[in-house]
Amino acid sequence: WDVNFGDMGNFGDLGDIFETFFEGMGMKPRRKAYERGTDLELGVEVTLEEAKFGKTVNLEYGTRVACEACKGLGYRADAGLKRCEHCGGRGEIRESRNTFFGNFVQVVTCNECRGTGEVPVALCHDCKGEGRNSGKRSVQVEIRSGVADGQIIKVKGMGEAGERKAEAGDLYVRVHVKSHPSFERRGDDLYMDLEVPVTDIILGKKRTIIVLGGGKAELVIPAGFDPSQELKIHGEGMTKHASLIVRLKIKTPRLNSKAKKLVEELEKLLGEE
Ligand SMILES: [Zn+2]
Ligand SMILES: [Zn+2]
Repeated sequence: WDVNFGDMGNFGDLGDIFETFFEGMGMKPRRKAYERGTDLELGVEVTLEEAKFGKTVNLEYGTRVACEACKGLGYRADAGLKRCEHCGGRGEIRESRNTFFGNFVQVVTCNECRGTGEVPVALCHDCKGEGRNSGKRSVQVEIRSGVADGQIIKVKGMGEAGERKAEAGDLYVRVHVKSHPSFERRGDDLYMDLEVPVTDIILGKKRTIIVLGGGKAELVIPAGFDPSQELKIHGEGMTKHASLIVRLKIKTPRLNSKAKKLVEELEKLLGEE
């Protein structure tokens, strides 16, 4: 015996033989009789407002659906079923295979009847025996309030129909949240810029601002406020637990001669402090 352990090719062959052997013993699960429908993915776009408050969307899309004529069976139910000739009604076929270890009997699922042992007397004309046809599905999807960009909503059983009543695939709806011209989203918080006159931060001010969705909120700017700091309005983010963060932008005033004199006076006054 000349055994070369470095040669993986030999082990690969052994693996094949053992696999066949175990299959023959019935130790490996057989594949499902009929093919499950494939999963589908659809994209849906919502505005930032819709993402904040939630939205119900109606989606209509093309996919294969259960055949109407045969109710997905693939054959005419009134004509019934007969014994599969190919496997003699056993649903499986025994094949013998010669290997290095000897002769093994391999049992494979019958392709004609997919392991059921019976075949239809008359296939459905509309779907040619598949039990499904190209068609349209429509579904209503609830997009919950506070949904994140890129979030996926799974709708079970709304993908492609399965072959001959096999399980349907699932539908995955990917939500894309559009960006907004005035509000920037970071996690569940929202950010906005607000232009204010310089007197607001010197003297302090209460301002009513429009929040996302058109509602109003009160912003309190404290006297002597440092505009490099952010102001937070709790409860006005994407959820009621999140915040709206306001960044102040100082408007530089255009001065007439009277205003200019006053500012110069103010400058002197502050300079003497
Ligand atoms: Zn068969
Ligand atoms: Zn049909």
